[in-house]
Amino acid sequence: MKSITVKQKFVTKFQNGYPLLFKEAVDNAKSVFAHASDGELFHLLNPNHKYIATAYYGVQNKGLGWLLTDKKDDIIDNEFFRRRVSRALRDREDLFNSRDTNVFRVINGEGDLLPGMTVDYYNGYCLINCYNKGIYSYLDIIAPILLKHKDVNGIYNKNRFDTGGRYIEDDDYLMGEKAEFPIIVKENNVNYSVYFNDGAMTGLFIDQRNIRKHMMNNFVKDKTILNTFSYTGAFSVAATIGGASKTTSIDLAKRTKEKTQEMFTINDIDHTKHDIIIEDVFNYFKYARRKELKFDTIILDPPSFSRAKKNTFSAAKDYPRLIEEAITVSEKDGVIIASTNCSTFDMKEFLEMINEGFSNQDRKFSILRKFSLPEDFTILPQFIEGNYLKVVFLKLDQQKK
Ligand code: SAH
Repeated sequence: MKSITVKQKFVTKFQNGYPLLFKEAVDNAKSVFAHASDGELFHLLNPNHKYIATAYYGVQNKGLGWLLTDKKDDIIDNEFFRRRVSRALRDREDLFNSRDTNVFRVINGEGDLLPGMTVDYYNGYCLINCYNKGIYSYLDIIAPILLKHKDVNGIYNKNRFDTGGRYIEDDDYLMGEKAEFPIIVKENNVNYSVYFNDGAMTGLFIDQRNIRKHMMNNFVKDKTILNTFSYTGAFSVAATIGGASKTTSIDLAKRTKEKTQEMFTINDIDHTKHDIIIEDVFNYFKYARRKELKFDTIILDPPSFSRAKKNTFSAAKDYPRLIEEAITVSEKDGVIIASTNCSTFDMKEFLEMINEGFSNQDRKFSILRKFSLPEDFTILPQFIEGNYLKVVFLKLDQQKK
């Protein structure tokens, strides 16, 4: 096996279990890896030639590859992957056995010691996302192990590298039984329809499970709900099943309308009783102010970055403005669910942005509850970059400051 020497100043970081072999860690990385093949294994050494870890080569953003083990004697073979996949599956046995939920994450990359890939379970079918060509080269080993699980009928795969933003439309079937789309999945007894043959996203963001549940159980009964950046309307449907009197879903993308209607329909809800509006949320806020519309519960779950006709939205820059807009259409004692998946700032900075929005509007709030990723999105403590989700439930104080 080839060896790679890492710079002295990063030795401790890797010894402590940091999993990503980032470019700056290696001198002359370009020439060192010039002839490396995807998935090739390397021993990482310190400058005194002592073994630190075994890594695979696979280019992914700022990474050259990922560390797989710090045990020199580990042989990276089928058995090695079988142990890791089996452990991940075992850790989710409660979810596999759940009667209310059949959609969740099975493998969360480095959090499950299988860096560079995620596997999500959708009512009988696994969808494997590979984020670099290195881990993709091990797919033929990993996929059959998943298929052996009694609750897994079929496997699909999407690649998130080198696709030029395009995803295979129909051909992402890998092995086992083929699914029929949409697959109807159940999360806390709410149905959602998902597609594996319609781009990178499936129609459901499964990292929001606990958020939808907490919202349903506490902040929707007989309430009016404004769901901004609503995508396929998952939050609106959950809110309706939780007893909301009316939901209003706002998204820019035309095709989200029929997807949202479908989400209502598969839950036996008449979608015509709900507003599904194709519009830039910032225009909608203006409209709602003009009409003096007020909402009890407002969901803010924007993408990290988006470009609408005239407006660009960047969560890192514009979240305070989004909070301000939401305050202007909130009932006096309304609840705002502020969510972001932006990984360039942490919870502390997110709270600062929320504070800024409130103070610009001369209003106060109290924090009801904070959330990060759910338990199946396992986080490696050495790689907090993986802990991207931040959600704050907050209540407006009736009085101005
Ligand atoms: N909250 C959703 C996921 C949001 S995905 C859920 O839980 O399912 C982001 C969505 O924001 C996309 O559907 C995109 O079309 C929409 N979007 C992006 N910029 C927007 C804007 N300025 N106004 C309205 N929708 C926007």
